[in-house]
Amino acid sequence: MKPEIKQIKAREVLDSRGNPTVEVDLATENGLFRSMVPSGASAGQHEALELRDGDSKRYLGKGTLKAVSNINRIIAPKVVGMDCTLQKEIDNVLLGLDGTPNKSKLGANAILPVSMAAARAGAAAKGIPLYQYIGELFGVKANTIPVPMCNVINGGKHAGQENSVQEHMLMPVGAKNFLEGIRMVSESYHHLASLLKKKYGAGATLIGDEGGFAPSQIEDVSERLELMLRAVANAGYEGKIKIALDPASSEFFHEGVYTIGKKSYSGVELVDFYADLCSTYPIVSIEDGHAEDDWESWVEMTRKLGDKIQIVGDDIFVTNTARIKKGIQLGCANSVLIKPNQVGSVTETLNAVKMAHEHGWTAVVSHRSGETEDSFIADLAVGTNAGQIKTGAPARSDRNAKYNQLIRIEEELGNKAKFLGERIRG
Ligand code: PEP
Ligand code: MG
Repeated sequence: MKPEIKQIKAREVLDSRGNPTVEVDLATENGLFRSMVPSGASAGQHEALELRDGDSKRYLGKGTLKAVSNINRIIAPKVVGMDCTLQKEIDNVLLGLDGTPNKSKLGANAILPVSMAAARAGAAAKGIPLYQYIGELFGVKANTIPVPMCNVINGGKHAGQENSVQEHMLMPVGAKNFLEGIRMVSESYHHLASLLKKKYGAGATLIGDEGGFAPSQIEDVSERLELMLRAVANAGYEGKIKIALDPASSEFFHEGVYTIGKKSYSGVELVDFYADLCSTYPIVSIEDGHAEDDWESWVEMTRKLGDKIQIVGDDIFVTNTARIKKGIQLGCANSVLIKPNQVGSVTETLNAVKMAHEHGWTAVVSHRSGETEDSFIADLAVGTNAGQIKTGAPARSDRNAKYNQLIRIEEELGNKAKFLGERIRG
């Protein structure tokens, strides 16, 4: 008997910022499978559409009842009855029902939770864990637990700041496994809290959207990094934890000029700014150093720093193979950030990772700043052997839901589990 999807029901629930989002319950004979959609704040212009109601009387216009209704009225009747193990076919039906290039008819927030819930049902039908099922869909033996990028200082839109680097992350590349790595980062995070409190008072330890501290007193990137490294040293992990940055520069790029704090830079000058930072601090990865359509500066950045550090494209590629392909052809970046809701289905997400890997690029699986308790991306990172994940500070349950799931998966894989450590770039 085929493992048939018996029922699909969507509802509006809340995300980590208190905004509405979409949750889907999908039922098969094996039980109920639930998925929830995250939401970005510094979202790229080229992302698939996140459908919001625009009714100012509900949730300040951010309601998701139209997306919910699109699932219950349009998607459910076509997908109920399908075999839940046929992920590609299910995703094709979803894309066909929408029929637009950017999912503007049904909304990526209507398509993705159905696609994710179907994957969970498929895994259950085969009696295997989700990461292993994703590994089968992707065509690998899933066994690599990702090195986390943990965002311990939140800036930019995630902290109510303008013209500011958005994410300052710790990467425990010197850990022997994930469990040790997350402990190293958690201890450093608490040492950082003490340093911030001592220097600027308790207000400096208030946190941003991704669970990292958001000290509005510290505008200077170097000072932020100095404090992070001191915290790492105080925790006893000097040299074992490296730094990754996501400036999210589309947010501070206006009319051809990049502005960080009170300083302005051209695209080329900004490459020099990053090169200086990299020669001063142990930076291993920079994401969105330049804006989403400033392809030329991306090429220059890659020419200058591409063999020294990982250069990750988020807003520029939006998990979309057409844009990733252009990046590969132009020689800009050497890594892709992978956010399922930027593109809107599981199959398209897997295709994006595949394209990156086939061209010798790395892929970093990522959360959004608005998250939920859904830990799908933890399984996605293992299922694609991506080797890296960024999902916020080691704090707040919307972030730790993913880290905790990785702890479980590592335990389950036992001595089959791999952790790349320093070898994140191969
Ligand atoms: C990011 O820019 O990488 C990010 C996680 O932020 P958001 O979800 O706000 O786009
Ligand atoms: Mg980003």
